[in-house]
Amino acid sequence: MTVETKTTIQPSDISAIEFECLKCHTVTHWPLEVAKNPLTRCHCSEENWMPYGGDTYVALANFMALLNRFSKAKAEPYRVRLALNSALPLGHVSGDGD
Ligand SMILES: [Zn+2]
Repeated sequence: MTVETKTTIQPSDISAIEFECLKCHTVTHWPLEVAKNPLTRCHCSEENWMPYGGDTYVALANFMALLNRFSKAKAEPYRVRLALNSALPLGHVSGDGD
């Protein structure tokens, strides 16, 4: 028997956004209520992660606004969920000797 486990999150599960610098691993954690604009660089470097106001900056700012909007629980007649990729198959149960 194979059991497939699917992990999902819904916007109301999301409370904050984090930016991690891949050079020094400093993590900046912002609750969604205060996160308005993306972080554009880390204190460890003068190099910007993205141009201020560029496509990626605008996309991240829009993403943060959408997360903030949809993270607030509302009495809607539907629910939106996001499925997470799983690195390893979970829940495989062998009942037939395979
Ligand atoms: Zn850094």
